[in-house]
Amino acid sequence: MTLIEKLINTGYLKTPRIIEAFEKIKRVDFLPDNLPYKDAVAELDEAISIGFAQTISQPAVVAFMVELLDPRPGQKILDIGYGSGWTTALLARIASANGAGGKVVAIERIKALAEFGKNNIAKYGFTKKNIAKCIAGDGSAGFLPKAPYDRILVSASGSDIPESWIEQLKVGGIIVAPVKNTIAKVVKTGPNSISMQKFDGFAFVPLVQGTRNF
Ligand code: SAH
Repeated sequence: MTLIEKLINTGYLKTPRIIEAFEKIKRVDFLPDNLPYKDAVAELDEAISIGFAQTISQPAVVAFMVELLDPRPGQKILDIGYGSGWTTALLARIASANGAGGKVVAIERIKALAEFGKNNIAKYGFTKKNIAKCIAGDGSAGFLPKAPYDRILVSASGSDIPESWIEQLKVGGIIVAPVKNTIAKVVKTGPNSISMQKFDGFAFVPLVQGTRNF
């Protein structure tokens, strides 16, 4: 059984357009070039080191978060902590399906990883076609120049959901972000209101403020 079949059987992957993106965007393309047994490693349902004390997220966790995010064709999505670029490419595939014109703005604080992830995303032509925009920078206060967003996905864990992310979200928009050891789903229900659900039992690398060159 392939990893994707397992994620479907265990109920992590449900939605056809999300499953299609997982099939088309190969996780192996987001692993470091020199990693031994890359093809086999990509199929493991585990977080894998991409250097700089960071990981490409565990597939079941990415599937769970993307299903909660409910990304749709045509949307503008902010991906905070893009690391390997895998989540950015998955979201870019969904947002731009059938020429829908959606876009992903991706931000990564570690400069060398920002470069690595950008090169991985470029394998699918998303940067050239202006579907994905990769920014080396601190996303802990979102990214105001391209706001507002329909969706915000975050891959590193903070102590709460910053006000700036909610401000940069459209009404009706969704944020999925790790908060401590939970995954939080925030829906902006009105200009000044949100609803929040939390799901327990996850582990993430920390959300750190500021940028780093190496
Ligand atoms: N979506 C990525 C996850 C990488 S791990 C993937 O599947 O590969 C989380 C990433 O968040 C790390 O690369 C880390 O450097 C980054 N990160 C942590 N704090 C950040 C911040 N304040 N702004 C932007 N990126 C951040």
